[in-house]
Amino acid sequence: ETMINQIAAGEVIERPASVVKELVENALDAGASRVEVVTAGGGLNLIRVGDDGSGISESELELAVSRHCTSKLSTDIHDIRSLGFRGEALPSIGSVSRLTIRSRTAASDAAAEIGIEGGDVSTVRPAAANKGTSVEVRDLFFATPARLKFMKGERAETTAISDIVKRIAIAFPAVRFTVSGPDRTTLELPAGDDSPDGQLTRIAQVMGGEFPENSIAIDAIREGVRLSGHVSIPSYSRANALQQYAYVNGRPVRDKLIASAIRGAYADVLPRDRNAVTVLFLTLDPATVDVNVHPAKADVRFRDPGLVRGLIVGSIRQALADAGV
Ligand code: ADP
Ligand code: MG
Repeated sequence: ETMINQIAAGEVIERPASVVKELVENALDAGASRVEVVTAGGGLNLIRVGDDGSGISESELELAVSRHCTSKLSTDIHDIRSLGFRGEALPSIGSVSRLTIRSRTAASDAAAEIGIEGGDVSTVRPAAANKGTSVEVRDLFFATPARLKFMKGERAETTAISDIVKRIAIAFPAVRFTVSGPDRTTLELPAGDDSPDGQLTRIAQVMGGEFPENSIAIDAIREGVRLSGHVSIPSYSRANALQQYAYVNGRPVRDKLIASAIRGAYADVLPRDRNAVTVLFLTLDPATVDVNVHPAKADVRFRDPGLVRGLIVGSIRQALADAGV
């Protein structure tokens, strides 16, 4: 079992930022309004993600760390609304680190915790905590030292952690996010709201205050697929595509089709070596998109790629034309 979990970990947990992604997504799935990330040593010594979400009851702590145990699976595997769905993250992380989960539900007047060390699960013990969950990961990859050799150094890992939190945070403007190191807070995104204004405020917090005034709003629907968000005017572009954020049903994705459609939309107004800055949300029937292509869940497969491509290219071009740029 530990072996299987370590193999799964090889797929899901590439680096400390992958752990942060899984833990932050779990916090959001639990309805958190505050997510706090603390790291040390680029996440290799310590990652702690605390939330004020629904919590895990004492009787379910053991289940939460068992393979393929998820509280989120709806009857149809393609009908995925929450961020998590595989029941794989916690057992995988626990197989390659020292993991402690401390949690308390609103219904309970005491917290409980469980630990896993390199796959060995402890008994559930009483603990003290407020409502919500705190997941602590120490000594990541201590059980699979070969993996440690691939790490790029503390600086790079810390940056990757901050980047993944920003990427997720754009889709959750009502949630407060903080990321801190051993001695200082590196990212602080105060809670806003889910209105279009709130959305834009969060985008500005993450991408810099100049982006909103150099961007155009997009909001279009074609055959039940909705595209919304903001795209930069041609004069506000970048040498790389790092500032292109895309979401499918609220899930951050890095998808070739979306990237290529954005490039296509700007083909006439941007030189080949410049990239637009974009934040795009696709909302569509979960049955028409497969977010299950890879365990790390960054790729997607659309049932009708032509429709999605046409929508992105068409509505960005239209918006640029309407804005006269
Ligand atoms: P998945 O997210 O795919 O369900 P995970 O291994 O990430 O699988 O988590 C297993 C289960 O543990 C979740 O389905 C959920 O019930 C519970 N869980 C994990 N993290 C949290 C959290 N922060 N708050 C509440 N429940 C959680
Ligand atoms: Mg999960």
